[in-house]
Amino acid sequence: MRSGYDVVVIGGAVMGASAAYWLTKMDPSLKVLVVERDPSYAQAATALSVASVRLQFSNPVNVKISLFGLDFIRNFANYVPQGGVPDLGLKENGYLFLTDNAAAAEQMETLAAMQRGLGAQTCVLDPAKLAKQFPWMNLDDVVAGSFGPSGEGWFDNMGLLGGLRSQARAQGAEFVADTVTGLTRDGGRVTHVHLASGASIEASAVINAAGTRGAEIMRFVGEDLPVEPRKRTVFVIDAPNARHPDAPLLIDYTGYYMRPEHDQWITATVPAADGPCAVDDFEPDHHLFEEEIWPALYNRALGFDAVKVTRMWVGQYDYCTLDQNAILGRHPVFENLYMCNGFSGHGLQQAPAIGRGLAEQILTGDWVSIDLSQFGMERVLENRPFAEAAIV
Ligand SMILES: Cc1cc2nc3c(=O)[nH]c(=O)nc-3n(C[C@H](O)[C@H](O)[C@H](O)COP(=O)(O)OP(=O)(O)OC[C@H]3O[C@@H](n4cnc5c(N)ncnc54)[C@H](O)[C@@H]3O)c2cc1C
Repeated sequence: MRSGYDVVVIGGAVMGASAAYWLTKMDPSLKVLVVERDPSYAQAATALSVASVRLQFSNPVNVKISLFGLDFIRNFANYVPQGGVPDLGLKENGYLFLTDNAAAAEQMETLAAMQRGLGAQTCVLDPAKLAKQFPWMNLDDVVAGSFGPSGEGWFDNMGLLGGLRSQARAQGAEFVADTVTGLTRDGGRVTHVHLASGASIEASAVINAAGTRGAEIMRFVGEDLPVEPRKRTVFVIDAPNARHPDAPLLIDYTGYYMRPEHDQWITATVPAADGPCAVDDFEPDHHLFEEEIWPALYNRALGFDAVKVTRMWVGQYDYCTLDQNAILGRHPVFENLYMCNGFSGHGLQQAPAIGRGLAEQILTGDWVSIDLSQFGMERVLENRPFAEAAIV
């Protein structure tokens, strides 16, 4: 490890690795250091994600970000020729958002047209069409469903991370297992990054990609960040009478989501009493399946009368309390501190576009491929929430 770097990235999961990948791809002479406190990624959202990609967002910028993520996933081997797995196993079963409400169904039509205009395939299906496509669903209460027949599905999250890391390394980025314990601030500049090992590293630019610990990093320089850990318990269930391998990722208006995982299902919901949790709290909310999810599943689809929870895990969202969307780019108070925080449950698919955007901003001073200015910290300081209705 050297004493000085062009860019120090705090956090080496999917966002930090993507930033390092793009920085070194765009300028191989750059000295980039990624500091990761736990290279096993045992508690990183990247590893605990349900690893799905969708184009059904209400804000066109989020659609464009996911379209690039999709391109990156589909053409992974071309993007990471010296990376890990050649194929991320994308399963394009689609997303299906259901509603019981006529006004929401009308809104679905408007959004589907916007998404199609950008390159998605989204179509809105009435109950008859839904019944034809998904004969195993109970649709008595449903008015419409918005479905993405291609370009949406799930993929290998750790394959994405591994490929970005390997390729970034091959391009010259360094990764170190250590914990950032402090930053030295000199007015509007961060000058040094301090590590638990005792090292003090001079940095021309610093990226905060510390996930649920992003606000902790900002406290080192006396600034606030509206990002907190929120627990999400994911259940893997076996339902032998409900084998529908072609099922989409269903987002039910009642609050839960589910998708097939090999011959089982993955399902989760937002707890009714949602709120911040301790950053090291990974204890599952066992009751959510029996009390909230199972009754809804039983009502929605055939075959969920007999189910067994075979596994469960907890992941934490890095939850942006302002508007559940990313906070990105140069912090207005600093000339060299860049935010990459607050992805709130949809960051995995966004990593390719976000890493590229940050690299462009650091190297050129501006957003280039996609204008990401709506995600800036400015909106936080001015209390202007980013408008996105499709939050899961
Ligand atoms: C249950 C669940 C389901 C999800 N499903 C999806 C999905 O289907 N699709 C999707 O797109 N997204 C999904 N997400 C969201 C997605 O996983 C995250 O938005 C994304 O992984 C965030 O990546 P990250 O690199 O910013 O954060 P993380 O993966 O949390 O990584 C942050 C890293 O920073 C490191 N770090 C923290 N502090 C320090 C420090 N002081 N020094 C050094 N290193 C530090 C941590 O160890 C960690 O490895 C889901 C998330 C969860 C929890």
